[in-house]
Amino acid sequence: MTGKVTLVGAGPGDPGLLTRKGEAALRGAEVVVYDRLIVPELLELLPPTAERIDVGKQADCHPAPQWRINEILVEKALEGKNVVRLKGGDPFLFGRGGEELDLLAEHHIPFEVVPGVTSAIAAPAYGGIPVTHRDYASSLHIVTGHAKAGSPLRINFRALAEAGGTCVFLMGVSALERICGGLLEAGMAENTPAAVVERGTLPGQRKVVSTLGRLAEEARRAELHSPAVIVVGGVAALSDRFDWFDALPLKGRTIVVTRSKRRAGALRSRLRELGADVVDYPCIETVPRRENPALEQCLAQINRFDWVAFTSSAGVEVFFDALWRLGMDGRALSGVKLAAVGPSTAQALETRHLRADYVPPVYDTEHLALGLAARTKGPVLLPRAALGSPILPRVLEEQGVAFTDVPVYDTVFPGENADEVRSLLAAGETWVTFTSASTVRGFVNSLEPGTDLSRVLWLCIGPQTAAECARHGIRTRVAREATVPALVDLILDAAKE
Ligand code: SAH
Repeated sequence: MTGKVTLVGAGPGDPGLLTRKGEAALRGAEVVVYDRLIVPELLELLPPTAERIDVGKQADCHPAPQWRINEILVEKALEGKNVVRLKGGDPFLFGRGGEELDLLAEHHIPFEVVPGVTSAIAAPAYGGIPVTHRDYASSLHIVTGHAKAGSPLRINFRALAEAGGTCVFLMGVSALERICGGLLEAGMAENTPAAVVERGTLPGQRKVVSTLGRLAEEARRAELHSPAVIVVGGVAALSDRFDWFDALPLKGRTIVVTRSKRRAGALRSRLRELGADVVDYPCIETVPRRENPALEQCLAQINRFDWVAFTSSAGVEVFFDALWRLGMDGRALSGVKLAAVGPSTAQALETRHLRADYVPPVYDTEHLALGLAARTKGPVLLPRAALGSPILPRVLEEQGVAFTDVPVYDTVFPGENADEVRSLLAAGETWVTFTSASTVRGFVNSLEPGTDLSRVLWLCIGPQTAAECARHGIRTRVAREATVPALVDLILDAAKE
């Protein structure tokens, strides 16, 4: 059976600007064919089994030519695949979406189109420029500045100058002088406000706001490059007044997040919302132990335990998956009390409609152990990481509490983005967040021995994490409590200094 091709607009860069329909298409894709400007984070939405075909243009290796892209779409659809063609911005705005549909139509291959947020409007918006405004412009003209090498631009400058609306040029950076010159020649005033927004909506966005007469020179001096949009018209003068994006508290800051990818979401998106450039450097990934006779044995006699104490939401997840696999459910725990090391672990219980009977006032394993000791002599079941903190069993032992320590998941180092982190460390002060002592160990072990860590600012979720950091670095800061919001506050405070 013939498959289907969905042409999806990925938006201009900020992953949050993908539409909900676009997200649904990615989640259901069997094959995705994508371009150079697509941010890697969007590809995380794909099912792990999806085939990824990069047809992007790259400086060193040639891009797939358009006819080949069209052919790939047809081939994959004829194999019966659900194909997503993911394109930057909106697929029909200078995106050659129409050409791709031509061949599909010819082969009677079903297709759908999901429009996207175009850079022509979004990049100015993130640069503080509304493309129309009652006081300045009542029309918007989106023009390509692309010309075949050696041939002149085919732009009707006179018509643009006469229309008096806002002009937005895409693919225009290399022709910036000629575009400005053309508009001036057609009679536009030299002092017409004009701007260039580079890498719009992305953490590294930069802009130059000037006048038509000076824009080309100032953009060159600032070394602005593609991808960038050029905005010409009165609205460009609003850029400083409406400059919300550059004003975000963490704008211009690069922050490394070492948390496991599956758990980094909340921290990562919060830091992004605040304007930070987040580098994912998962220093630990949890791998559940599928075969786990020791855990199964405990579960079969779960009522022998007085308490089950969880030290991570990963532990909660694996524990309940195993319970379910053995044909049991939450009712099996009716006679057992539950403890959680902190709010997010307690939250993991809550989503299973179970309440934690105890969460320590300070969210670490030492306080968890002391709290348990005040409540029971055991036995306590500890379903946790194979290489979990030694503090928990040690304190329980000192306090005379009986316990069974059962490894339910292993932790591995995934090793992504290592080059980026190395160059950050080499370049200067680097802010790195840590949410557990094991991520600190993972971080240090991932770097070559002898790496200079003196310029790392270690931003820690709690005292045990900080104690581990202090063994490696000098500048350590600790959140007021061990929660993600408190860690974010800590970063905001550091940014104010
Ligand atoms: N279909 C796309 C445009 C494709 S043409 C859209 O709707 O956005 C490629 C041009 O888009 C680039 O040369 C640049 O002018 C612009 N562009 C794409 N992403 C951009 C970004 N993040 N910031 C500024 N301009 C961008």
